[in-house]
Amino acid sequence: MQRVANGSLNYPFPAPPAAGEVIAVAAGILWARIPLPFRLDHVNVYLLDDGEGWTVIDTGIGNDATRAAWVALRAGPLAGRRLTRLIVTHFHPDHIGLAGWLCERFDVPLLASQTTYLSCLNISLSPGALDAEPYRDFYLRNGLDAATTQRVTTQGHGYLRMVTPLPPTFERLVGGDTLDIGGRTFSVLAGDGHAPEQLMFYCAGEKLLLAADQVLAKISPNVSVWAVDPHGDPLGLYLRSLSALKAQLPPDTLVLPGHQLPFYGLHLRSDELRAHHDARCRAIATACRAKPRSAAELVPVIFRHPLDAHQMSFAFSEVLAHVNYMLRQGVLKPAANSDRILRVDAA
Ligand SMILES: [Zn+2]
Ligand SMILES: [Zn+2]
Repeated sequence: MQRVANGSLNYPFPAPPAAGEVIAVAAGILWARIPLPFRLDHVNVYLLDDGEGWTVIDTGIGNDATRAAWVALRAGPLAGRRLTRLIVTHFHPDHIGLAGWLCERFDVPLLASQTTYLSCLNISLSPGALDAEPYRDFYLRNGLDAATTQRVTTQGHGYLRMVTPLPPTFERLVGGDTLDIGGRTFSVLAGDGHAPEQLMFYCAGEKLLLAADQVLAKISPNVSVWAVDPHGDPLGLYLRSLSALKAQLPPDTLVLPGHQLPFYGLHLRSDELRAHHDARCRAIATACRAKPRSAAELVPVIFRHPLDAHQMSFAFSEVLAHVNYMLRQGVLKPAANSDRILRVDAA
């Protein structure tokens, strides 16, 4: 098998598993897909033979279709062996959504980073908190329209509709830990930028990376600034994480991602993702050389097609990630403002 072709990713499993079925991507590592009711219509989950049963990685969102998908997997390819533990890579609902239900139904412990557990718990404890005045004001001052501000400040409730209540305890995994699963030793890697303290798992013996959403074959993972950390630099953290993966892992690593197909070409894909963000930064810098602009005014510079409120909330937060990064890099500077809107200027 040619693992790294020149200049393109290599897909060793060109077709995904059908509903209720699995594909063995390595000895004792099964790949299954759980449907999602979004444009990105699936999430990948992995089942690792740990000797006593299956260690599960990620879950799908918490709804009846996902429960049915897990029941089908249990009755089909996973039949005869128990689930032993659930590892959740990050707090996004497509990965953690059914964790509470799975842990209770199959009596298994939840393993996750502390940030993953607490981020999910925080929204559960206070789903309306994002709607508080300082957060609303943050979006309006960055030029976002009232309808999108309303949408983005009430999305805690939407999150909870996709997430079953977490178990009351979890086992904390930390970047730098090692984890033994079925005779394999995995290094626990913590990446940031897409979700805080997102966990990945790397088996050096077989050059396997369970990459979660940090590196995907054809999508640039969402990187967003949120109102609770208005000056945060998730893009800087994301690029730092890409550099670390490239420095620490070999180019012929098999990447097992949270969406789309497994692939070879980790270094190439890291370079492509970096170039994608560099191009966006250049477009923003060019626009700001013409006149100062708010983050909302920069959205059409990056996203040329019309956006609904849902798309706009993500587009805005992603553009702001680039603006904050460029402010830290000294490429942009805050502009003097005559109204309440925050704008940036080329430095
Ligand atoms: Zn994610
Ligand atoms: Zn995801």
